[in-house]
Amino acid sequence: MNDIASNIAGIRERIAAACRRVDRNPEEVRLIAVSKVKPAAQIEAAFACGQRRFGESYVQEFRDKSPAVQAPVEWHFIGGLQTNKVKYLRGKVAMIHSVDRLSLATEISRQWQKIDACCKILLQVNIGEEEQKSGCLPNDLEQLVRPVAELPNLQICGLMCLPPHCTETEEVRPYFRRLRELAAQIDSLQLPDISMTELSMGMSGDFEVAVEEGATLVRVGTAIFGERVRKN
Ligand SMILES: *Cc1c(COP(=O)(O)O)cnc(C)c1O
Repeated sequence: MNDIASNIAGIRERIAAACRRVDRNPEEVRLIAVSKVKPAAQIEAAFACGQRRFGESYVQEFRDKSPAVQAPVEWHFIGGLQTNKVKYLRGKVAMIHSVDRLSLATEISRQWQKIDACCKILLQVNIGEEEQKSGCLPNDLEQLVRPVAELPNLQICGLMCLPPHCTETEEVRPYFRRLRELAAQIDSLQLPDISMTELSMGMSGDFEVAVEEGATLVRVGTAIFGERVRKN
C-alpha cells in the first residue's frame, strides 16, 4: 500500500475504535480528506482508496485545482469565505462548513437560486470565543440561525468548530462537547426546515476525541497527505 492508502486505512480504524468506545455506529462518522495545498494527483490517489469527500479551504486554489480532478469527488468548502467569492463555489461544492454571518448565507442562497439548487451549510461557531478566530459566538448563534433558516436554496445541517489550540488532546474535549450541546439547544427550538444532525469537528490531532463527543464529519488533512508547506 502507498502512504495515502495506509494512512486512510489507519484513520478509518481509529475512527471505528473511537466509535466502539462510546457505542456509536461508525457509519455515522464521515471522513473528509482535507486536500488544501495538495495536488490533484494526490486527491485521485485517495479516491482510488475509496475516499469520496474532500475539503478545501482556499477559493482560488479550489478554482484552479478542481477541474483537474477527474474522479467524481464530493467537495466540501471548509475555509474562511468572502462573500464576493461564493460565486466560484456555486454548484461545485456539496457543503459549506464555514458560514458564520447572515450576509454570507444570503449570498450563498442567492447564488444557488441561480442554478435552482440547494446548498447544504453548517454554521461555524467560535467555540473558544477567541478574538482572532472566525465563527459566530455561541451566545449569538440563535440570532444567526433564525434568519438563515428563512433563506431559500440552502439547508442548515448542523454546526462546525475549530477549537482553540490545545497542547494536550484531552483539553479539547470540553469544546467539542459544548458544540454538541449547542446543537441540541438549537434543535430544541424546533425551527422549521433546519436540522442539527451534523457536527463537523476534529482534525488530525484530535479527531478521535471529536468522534467520542459526537462528530459526524471529521476533517483530516496532515494525517492523510502529510505536512503542508503553506501555513494554516
Ligand atoms: C486545514 C484544516 C483542517 C485539517 O487540519 P489537519 O491538522 O491537517 O488535519 C481541518 N479543518 C480546517 C477548517 C482546516 O482549515
